[in-house]
Formats: sequence, C-alpha cells, structure tokens
Amino acid sequence: MLKNKTNNNLKASNLSSLKTVYLGIGTNKGTRETNISSAINLLSNIKGIKLLKISKMLKNPPQEGIKSGYFLNGAIKLLTSLTPLELLKVCKKIEKKQGRKETRIQRRKISRVIDLDILFYGNEIINTKELTIPHPMIEKRYFVLIPLMEIAKRFVHPLLKKSIKELYIDYCAPTSIKNCASAV
Ligand code: AMP
Repeated sequence: MLKNKTNNNLKASNLSSLKTVYLGIGTNKGTRETNISSAINLLSNIKGIKLLKISKMLKNPPQEGIKSGYFLNGAIKLLTSLTPLELLKVCKKIEKKQGRKETRIQRRKISRVIDLDILFYGNEIINTKELTIPHPMIEKRYFVLIPLMEIAKRFVHPLLKKSIKELYIDYCAPTSIKNCASAV
C-alpha cells in the first residue's frame, strides 16, 4: 500500500531531477513509536516524496545536556522532487502537526515530540541561513551514524569524503567505543 501511494507521489516528476535524501528522525516525548510512525505516514503522503528505506529505531539516552526521557532515533532514505527548502518546510510542518511547539532556544534543552533533520540532500553542500547540509553533527552522533550504517553504509559524505562506514569506524575508535556499544 505504501509503495503504491509513494509511487503516485512522484508520478508527474521529471525522474532526472529527483534527489536521494537522508533524513534523521527522533523523538523523546509521549508514545515514541506512535510519534515515529505518524511522522513517517505524513511524509509518505507528501507529493514529491517517495520513501525508499527506513532504518530500525535506536533507543538511547538523551545526549548533549538534554534532561529528559529516552530517545528513539532513526534514519529515512527517500527520493524527492522537492528543493531543499521545500523539504525543510515539509519537515517543519510535520513537526508542528505532531505538536512540537517549542521556540528555537527552548528546543535545544527540552523534550520533543518529533525532530526531522535533513542529513544529506544528494551530494549537495548548502550553507544558508535556513539550512546546513550535510547536517553538521552527523559524524559526531552515534545515534545518527548507527541508523545510517543500516541504510547508507556506502554513501560518501560529500564534504568529509568518507563513507558512512568509515565515519562510523572513526567515531567508534577505542576512545568512544563505549558510547557506540551502549546504543545497540
Ligand atoms: P532543530 O529542529 O532544533 O534541529 O532546528 C531546526 C532548525 O535548524 C530549522 O529551523 C532549520 O532552519 C535549521 N536547520 C539548519 N540545517 C538544517 C538541516 N540540515 N535540517 C533541518 N533543519 C536545519
């Protein structure tokens, strides 16, 4: 069913202009599994988006000073005819629809119903007021690298020129292996 729906989403698009995109998805508030499946369902209904792969969701403790309950984090591979900004708008709309109301400053510290980040947009490098792509924290977050390992192992980071597998191995080098191991 999902397959037909997503195929229809791209029917009118010029196939050569489609981009392969990886999104990060996370939640640490309410019924996490439901938050994730609702967001994925909303994404699958967007015209111009075809979902290709969804990683398993990783259960992990909050990072970077966030005082809250556990997170579920994963990654999504999709094809899209949307521009990066259009895709960002879609992500924000879905976050809002699912009840994320915090201001930008608050967001960094507190719980979130759903968080959608554009990790990669094809091989494009974008640095604007609204968007930094590739997402700047990919190589420093095991909860992003582990889901990407499942669905994008061979994808090469366009700035760092290393595959996801290489970035994962770098991050999980002896000094930080404990972090990575505790997440799986
Ligand atoms: P947050 O959801 O707290 O991670 O921050 C969302 C804000 O970060 C958005 O309003 C975007 O303008 C900005 N942003 C910059 N780069 C990205 C990206 N690659 N993916 C999603 N949001 C981004």
